[in-house]
Amino acid sequence: MFTIQSDCFNPEPVIQAWMDLYHGIAFPCAMHGWLHALATEHQYLLPRPSLVPGPENAALPRAAPDSCFPGPARFSTALRNVLVLGAGPAGMMLAIGWKRKYGERFEVTLLDNRIIQEGIAAPYVRAWPLNLPVSRLSLFLPGATRGLGSTPFVPWTLCELEMHLQAEAKRLGCTILHSAMPSSDLVQQLDPVITFDATGGRLKKPDQLVSSAPLVLTAEDLQKEHGDPDFCMQVGKLAPTIADKLSLAVFENGVGQPCLEGRPLAHWMIKITGIEKNLGLELRSLLLKINQDNWGFLWSTNLMSRDWLGIFHLKEHEYQAIKPMITQPTPIHSVQSLFSTLDPRWAIVLNFLCQHVSPSSRVCLEPPYLWEPRAFLGNIRHWRQADGRWLVPVGDSLFHGHPKVGNGLGVHTVLLGRFLA
Ligand SMILES: Cc1cc2nc3c(=O)[nH]c(=O)nc-3n(C[C@H](O)[C@H](O)[C@H](O)COP(=O)(O)OP(=O)(O)OC[C@H]3O[C@@H](n4cnc5c(N)ncnc54)[C@H](O)[C@@H]3O)c2cc1C
Repeated sequence: MFTIQSDCFNPEPVIQAWMDLYHGIAFPCAMHGWLHALATEHQYLLPRPSLVPGPENAALPRAAPDSCFPGPARFSTALRNVLVLGAGPAGMMLAIGWKRKYGERFEVTLLDNRIIQEGIAAPYVRAWPLNLPVSRLSLFLPGATRGLGSTPFVPWTLCELEMHLQAEAKRLGCTILHSAMPSSDLVQQLDPVITFDATGGRLKKPDQLVSSAPLVLTAEDLQKEHGDPDFCMQVGKLAPTIADKLSLAVFENGVGQPCLEGRPLAHWMIKITGIEKNLGLELRSLLLKINQDNWGFLWSTNLMSRDWLGIFHLKEHEYQAIKPMITQPTPIHSVQSLFSTLDPRWAIVLNFLCQHVSPSSRVCLEPPYLWEPRAFLGNIRHWRQADGRWLVPVGDSLFHGHPKVGNGLGVHTVLLGRFLA
């Protein structure tokens, strides 16, 4: 337990607590995700220049004991501003949790630039399934979780979750500004005691590479990675053979990027959504026969519909070929021919799906996306801006691991829950 004296709010202990939680929980999870990538996807890496190691080694965070987290802080009763840049799930959970914990003592403002025009938010569209136990939301949406008690998982898509969080943030008195105004203008106006970067990593600027650190994996790390045949993954076979080639490039701003033999782990992925449950089981049997390199991954979701989700890898030339044609969720029947010149396994998967679903079905390909993991390796001094203000990353701005092992939103929710409990 620690106390912050009333009239001199010093955010530093709070920020240090956030950093300790991150080191203890999130970094090991992110690393786990990279190990999946190492084992399964190295042949899909982008053709990018290597990040050349520098002379220094970075100190890698390793799991810190829970006791590092100093417990709830007590703040001044004076009204102060907290600014959250980005009103995605992490930003809204932070705003709700902060408001719930500290109430009237802080004015919480969110700024989001996902807009149609100034003042008008773009509708939420990310109909992505979540893999989130209901209990993780109890701090942020206590009313809703009572209603969801019949299932251990949240049966919503990401955009449904965002709608519920937005309503709760407003109910608690948070201000949400939908605007493309520069965040610096708002900082000048509000003079916040702390600003959180919840922009999903979009605020980050390119930075200088300063060093490279070998990422040493313990026997325990490798043992944990036994793969999951249910999801068509066979990680354990591959990981130990290449794990020693993994390193971390560390940038001046403290951000670390995992690399394999000096090349950043980054590649294209594409999703198939809306696969009905029975079809998902059949597709899994089919995929298991052609998935020697863990090319595809099938995930039975916890949505009401019980739809399955497929995530597949694309090589650079495959991404270039399909990117102009798939810019929004697109029914598979209309793109089947596009894939005929790509990895022959696409023909097998798409023929199977097209034979079993009607052209008007919900089975869609989502636009391809770049998976480019990173994690923070610095200390809290990196979050202090040149003008002395604090800009503290949360959610995807802080780290992300790997979608296949669900260590994005799931871990963000655990961290924020612990931070604001
Ligand atoms: C292509 C893709 C597919 C994914 N699929 C899944 C999935 O199926 N299931 C799952 O659980 N997770 C999925 N994830 C991960 C999940 O979406 C993220 O972990 C989660 O959205 C992170 O939340 P966040 O609030 O940190 O960031 P985001 O959700 O990215 O929210 C950031 C917010 O900040 C706003 N913003 C950005 N820049 C600025 C700025 N300069 N000023 C103000 N506002 C700004 C954006 O408009 C946005 O509203 C996926 C991620 C990606 C990229």
